[in-house]
Amino acid sequence: MELRLTGLPASAGVAIGRMTHFSTDAGARRPVADRPLDLDALNDALAASLAELRALEQSLDGAAADIITFQIAVLEDPEFFKQAGSAIAAGATADSAWMGVLDKEIAAFAGSGDEHFRARAVDLVDIRDRMLRRLRGQPEPRRFPPGAVVVADDLPPSIFLRTDWSQGGGIALRAGSPSSHVATLARAQGIPMVVGLGAAAPRGSSLTIVDGTNGTVTVAPASETLARVRDWAAAEELGQQSARARRFDPAVTKDGQHVAFLINVSNLSDLTGVDAACCDGVGLVRTEFLIEQALSDEQRQYESYARLVQWAAGKPVTIRTIDGGGDKPMRGYTRDRETNPFMGLRGIRLSLLKPDVFRVQLRAIARAAALGPVRILLPMVTVADEIAQARGHLSAVMDELRRDGVDHGAPSLGMMVEVPAAAMAPDLYDVEFMSIGSNDLAQYAMAAARDNPEVVSSMGVPHPGLLAMIANVARYGRERGVDVSLCGDSGGDPAALAHLLKAGIRKVSVAPALLPVAKDAVRHLDLSGMARGGP
Ligand code: PEP
Ligand code: MG
Repeated sequence: MELRLTGLPASAGVAIGRMTHFSTDAGARRPVADRPLDLDALNDALAASLAELRALEQSLDGAAADIITFQIAVLEDPEFFKQAGSAIAAGATADSAWMGVLDKEIAAFAGSGDEHFRARAVDLVDIRDRMLRRLRGQPEPRRFPPGAVVVADDLPPSIFLRTDWSQGGGIALRAGSPSSHVATLARAQGIPMVVGLGAAAPRGSSLTIVDGTNGTVTVAPASETLARVRDWAAAEELGQQSARARRFDPAVTKDGQHVAFLINVSNLSDLTGVDAACCDGVGLVRTEFLIEQALSDEQRQYESYARLVQWAAGKPVTIRTIDGGGDKPMRGYTRDRETNPFMGLRGIRLSLLKPDVFRVQLRAIARAAALGPVRILLPMVTVADEIAQARGHLSAVMDELRRDGVDHGAPSLGMMVEVPAAAMAPDLYDVEFMSIGSNDLAQYAMAAARDNPEVVSSMGVPHPGLLAMIANVARYGRERGVDVSLCGDSGGDPAALAHLLKAGIRKVSVAPALLPVAKDAVRHLDLSGMARGGP
């Protein structure tokens, strides 16, 4: 009998295939043997695992390569090896020592109050199991049948990467997270994925539909359901194809309103396969991902920013200063154990407390501005003095660069409008441009944490209170000649776009993958019957 389960959408699209199951069970411990050799065994396994990962990294590009680079960095952390070595010295076998150390770390990540850290637990499972296979001489996990729907608690990235998705297939996870690495990979390859199905996710090998757009999984669908979903998926695919074919055309509504489209970037790999000609520039660079490993390395930061400016070929690049904190914790940078991280030291608040890190970033951005138009975007601005302080740091940095004879440009300074108080009083801020962060603005306006799936469905742009704030900022921009755009996820959501345009938004910045469909959604809208400027 047909069984329909609801989870969270993690990668859009529909897959229909037979269920196959994966488990990350680390298996039984090896009996105690050859104890004096165990430290050598650990060393050999580490070297072999690193060699495997480095070869894999070389064979990949884009987000997949970045994820393997992350795993290499974790495995190279001497702390794990040291702890396992101590356990071996105390009498443990190599595999149980390694398992003990990693399991402790996995439990800490899995039990974290922070979605970002929870989503990384499965990366550690991946690393643990790769080493355990080496230590125990176990074979690689079996490959899934092509086109299958993979059901698991969670899926390690390396299992995703060794799967042949060329014949389709989908992923249905009992746990998991839309912000996990495997979700990033699934989105990059267009593999439909649903997470958070809970313990109800079924066993067996029935035919199953994964609807990653709506976050549902249907097991053993009735023939009418199957026919309906197949028709819907075919129509979706056609729509996507025609939108992709028109991605270079401007987005103009039926009544002639032009909407500018920029892209959001978190990693340089996001630009792979994207032609700058299909957008009006980069509307948001989330540097907390891009430079996480280079906070004090001006040259490395400069090289990353320069790549973006060169890619944009004369179109503006909007680089946001580090937005650490809240849903984006950064080891060694953000504060641990804040009672309410979303309302604590986030974004510009933290940058102003860490001027050394802030100035390195401002210097690197100002240098990249010598190569093309660059805008600096400050996150989480709440009070006008934050702008004044940031301007002070920027002009000090520019003076330094001038004095030292270092080539640099003059980036403009703008702010994210993502705190309700700022959206209600935009005239307080002395900035050249504003970008509305609807993800945070929605969570603060709706009192609904953006990383809590149980309340997140009550968020969303159509709420009149939220739209009133967006309209207020758009009106302010029009009246005062301040450039206003919106870079939250709602800009890439066709259903939300009508509301945003009605509220007066004419410039959005979206994930590159969503750009063609969002532009096409604009072409189907007619704003002539809608009064502008309010919900
Ligand atoms: C937002 O808050 O809408 C935004 C674009 O920033 P982030 O999602 O990175 O917080
Ligand atoms: Mg934000």
